[in-house]
Amino acid sequence: MNKVSRRSFVKNIGLGAGSATILPMLVSFEDHLTNRKQTFSGKKLNIALCGLGRYANILANGLAESEFCQLSGIITGTPEKAESWKRKYSIPEKNIYNYESFDKIADNKDIDLIYVVLPNGMHKEYTIRAAKAGKHVIVEKPMAFTVKDCQEMIDACKNAKVQLAVGYRLHYEPHHIEIKRLGQEKVFGKVRLIHASLGYNLTGVPLDDWHLNKSLAGGGALMNLGVYCIQSNRYVLGEEPISVTAQFAPKTMPELFIEVEENITWQLNFPSGAICTSTVASNCNIDRFYASAENGFFELSPAISYGPFKGRTGEKEFDFPVINQQAAQLDGIGKLILKEQGLPSHISGEEGLKDMRVIEGIYKAAETGDKIELS
Ligand code: NAD
Repeated sequence: MNKVSRRSFVKNIGLGAGSATILPMLVSFEDHLTNRKQTFSGKKLNIALCGLGRYANILANGLAESEFCQLSGIITGTPEKAESWKRKYSIPEKNIYNYESFDKIADNKDIDLIYVVLPNGMHKEYTIRAAKAGKHVIVEKPMAFTVKDCQEMIDACKNAKVQLAVGYRLHYEPHHIEIKRLGQEKVFGKVRLIHASLGYNLTGVPLDDWHLNKSLAGGGALMNLGVYCIQSNRYVLGEEPISVTAQFAPKTMPELFIEVEENITWQLNFPSGAICTSTVASNCNIDRFYASAENGFFELSPAISYGPFKGRTGEKEFDFPVINQQAAQLDGIGKLILKEQGLPSHISGEEGLKDMRVIEGIYKAAETGDKIELS
C-alpha cells in the first residue's frame, strides 16, 4: 500500500446519499492508535483540471504535493498543451478532453472532480456541465458574474447530487486561520475597522488579455481581486455586511482599461458597527490586511498573495510555516469528498454567492453614487 498516515484513514466509506459515488478499493487494517479496524480506500480523489493556464500550473504543483487528491485528467482546447501535460504528468489519453468532448467525461469512472480554472465568464457553463456529467466541482474565484448565476450553479450541483466548492485557498492558510481567530474570538476586543487591499500592476498587459474583456472577466480589479478583501472582512468579523458605498478611480491607463474598471475603492458597514475599507488596483502593487480592535490591532503584510505572509499584533510578530496553499486547499476538500462528507460552508457555492451579492452591491454603489443596502 502507498504511504498511509493516520490522517488519511477514510472512516466513513459507506456511500452516502447526496453525493457522487467514489468507487473505492477497500483495504482493512488495524489503526494502532485506536486499536480499531479501519478501512482505507487507498484511493485519491481523481481531479481533472479544466483550462490549463497560469493558475492551473500552480494547482498542478499543489496536486503533486496533495495527500488526498491527484491530477488524473485535463480539459484543454490547445492540442500542444494536451501533449505536454500528458507527458509531464503521465495522464492517460482516455482522460484528456477538449471543450467539445467535455461532456463525454460523464462516462469516465476515473475522474471524480472537475476543477474549473477557466476565465471567469466560463465558470458558470463549465460548472453546470461538470455537474450534469455527475462530477464534483471546484470552481475558481470569482464564482460567476451575478448572484443569479451562482444560484443556478448551486442548483445544478444539488440536482446532480454532486458537491460544489469555490477555490478559496486562504481558508486553509495558517495566518488567515489566525486572523479569523483573533477577530472572531475578540482577542483584542471588538474589531472596529479593517483595511484590506490588493493590487497588481498590469502595465504592459496585452490588449487581448481576457482580464480586460468584460464578457470573459465580468469586470476589472473588483472581479479579479475583490473577493479576497470581502472574504477576509467577513471571516474576521464573522458577520455579513449590511450596506456599501463605492467609488471608481479615474483611469491612469485608459488605453488598456476600455471595458472594465482599473481601480475601485469601497466601504462596507457591518451590524456591529465595524467599517471595512478596501481598494483593489490594477496600476500598483499592494497586498495588505490591517484590523484595528478596541484594545489592539493585528495585521498581515503581505497578506493575500501566495506568501510568504508576515503577521504582527501590537505585542508580537507571528509567522507560521510557509505551506503550499493549493495542496492544503485540495487536501481539505479532497478528504471530505473521499469520506462522502459534505463540504464546510465557508468554501461552498453558497459562500461564493454571498461574496457575489457584495460584489453586485459594490458595482451598483460605484455606478450610482448611492449607499446600497445589502440584504
Ligand atoms: P489564464 O489566462 O492563465 O488561463 C486561462 C485558461 O483558459 C487558458 O489555458 C486558456 O487557454 C483557457 N481558455 C479557454 N477558453 C478561453 C477563452 N475564450 N479566452 C481565454 N482563455 C481561454 O488565467 P488564470 O490566471 O489561470 O485564471 C483562470 C481562473 O483562475 C480565473 O477565474 C482566475 O480568477 C482564477 N485564479 C485564481 C487564483 C487563486 O489564487 N485562487 C489565482 C489566479 C487565477
